[in-house]
Amino acid sequence: MKIVMKFGGSSLADGSRILRCGSIIERYKQNHSLIVVVSAMDDVTDKLLVLTELAKNGNREAIREHLEVLRAIHIEATNIIKSDNLRAAAQEEVSKLLTELEKVMTASTLLKEVTPRTRDLILSYGERLSSILLEHTLKDLRVDCLRLQGGEAGILTDEAFGEATPLFEASKSRIRSKLNPLLEQNIIPVVTGFIGETQNREITTLGRGGSDLTATLIAAAVKADEVWLWTDVDGIMTADPKLIPNAKTVPQISYAEAREMTALGAKAIHPRAIEPIAEEGIPVRVKNTFAEENAGTLITSTTQLKEGEVVKALALVKDVGLITVSGAGMVGKLGTAAKIFDILSKSGVNILMISQSISESNISVVVNRSKLHKAVTALELALLGKGVVSEVHAEDDVSVVAAIGAGMQGTPGVAARIFGAVAKRGVNIRMIAQGSSELSISFVVKEKDALTALKAIHDDLNLGG
Ligand code: ASP
Ligand code: MG
Repeated sequence: MKIVMKFGGSSLADGSRILRCGSIIERYKQNHSLIVVVSAMDDVTDKLLVLTELAKNGNREAIREHLEVLRAIHIEATNIIKSDNLRAAAQEEVSKLLTELEKVMTASTLLKEVTPRTRDLILSYGERLSSILLEHTLKDLRVDCLRLQGGEAGILTDEAFGEATPLFEASKSRIRSKLNPLLEQNIIPVVTGFIGETQNREITTLGRGGSDLTATLIAAAVKADEVWLWTDVDGIMTADPKLIPNAKTVPQISYAEAREMTALGAKAIHPRAIEPIAEEGIPVRVKNTFAEENAGTLITSTTQLKEGEVVKALALVKDVGLITVSGAGMVGKLGTAAKIFDILSKSGVNILMISQSISESNISVVVNRSKLHKAVTALELALLGKGVVSEVHAEDDVSVVAAIGAGMQGTPGVAARIFGAVAKRGVNIRMIAQGSSELSISFVVKEKDALTALKAIHDDLNLGG
C-alpha cells in the first residue's frame, strides 16, 4: 500500500517519542511505500504564538527566555540520536534555524508589529524544527529519507496568511512531480505539515491543526491508498474520555460524520482535511502512537451502521454564549433574520447555532463566548428602538451538547431518546437545532448541567464500553 503517515505534536513531544515514530516508520516501510508528514513538537506552535504577542509588546527579555526554552526542547530531543555525526548535524540544523528565528524576532520587536505574513513565518519554525529531528532519527535507524518544507513538497497556497487555502490542482501536480521520483527510489519524504508557500515563495500556514490537510492533500496527489493520522488517543471517541471515563473508540465513521464532529470541536481531524480525499474516496485511519495494536478509527466515504446504532458520538462545546432577539414586531416582518446575521457578520462574529420558532417572535443564536459582548452590543445598537425588536437577551453561562451519527437520518424517535435521557436528570434544554441533513442534533443547556446531560445520553444510548 501507499500510505501517507502524519505524526501529531504529542507523538513527537520528546526524543524518545520521536524515536517511537521513527521505529513505526521503519517497520511499516518494509511492506509499504510511505510519505511522512510532521506537526511541530507538542505545544511548540503555541509557544511561537506567544512569541508573536511578546514582539508586539516589545518584550525583549521574555522573548529571549522563550527562545531559550525552544532551543532546550529541540536540542534535548537530539540526544536520542545515537550516531555522533548525525546528532551533531541535527543540532547544527536546529541552531541555524533558531538563530534565524531570533533575527525575525529582533526585527519584529523593534517594529512592535507582527504582520500576518511575519506571523506565518514565525509559526513555520515549529514544523521546520521537528522535521529536522525526525529526519535525523530516521537516518540513525538507517531509513533513507529526505526532508522537505511544505513549499518544496509542492504545497502551493493563496495569500491568505494565517489560514491559507491550498491551490488544489496546481499543488497536486507539483506534489506528484516532487514526491513520485523519491518514492520510486525508495526514499521516504519527510514533509513539514501546516506549511505551504505562495506563488512568490512566501511561507504560509494552513490554520491551526493544518498538518492533517497537508497529509490528505499529498495523499490525493499521489493517489495514496490510505492516510494514517498518528495521535495520542485511540482514534475518535464516543465522547471526550476526560469527561466520560467509559467513552470508547468509534471503529468507523463517514467523511460527513467526521466533518460534523470536527465542526463540533472533536480534535480528531482538521475540518478542511476531508476535502482533498473525498473525491478519491481515500480512507483515513486515526491511530494511537502509544497503543499501536488498537485499530483506531477508520474514516471512509460511506457509513457502516450497526443494528440499532443511531448516535455514534457526543460532543460538548463550552465557552459559548446564547443570544435571543425577540419582539412581537418580528412576527411576519421580512428581513429580520437577514438583518441579524448581517450585523453579526459585519462585527466579525461567527454564528455557531441558529433557531427560530414558528411563531417568529424570537430568534436565538449561539456564538463564541469571547464574542458575546461584542455581538450583543452591535445588535442592540442596530435593532433596538425601531419598533421591531424589543429585547436582545444574552446568556454567558451555557454550553452546547451535540449528538452525531448518520443513523439518525430517517430514524424516528432519536430525538425523543436524547431529550428523554436529559429530561430524566432534570436538566432544562434552552434551545435546539437540527440540520435537515439529520447528521447531528445540538442543544443548549446551562453550563453547570452540561456534563450531566452528556453523561445521561452516553449512558442511556449505551455508547460506552
Ligand atoms: N503545529 C500546528 C498546530 O499546532 C499544526 C498541526 O499541528 O497540525 O496547529
Ligand atoms: Mg499541533
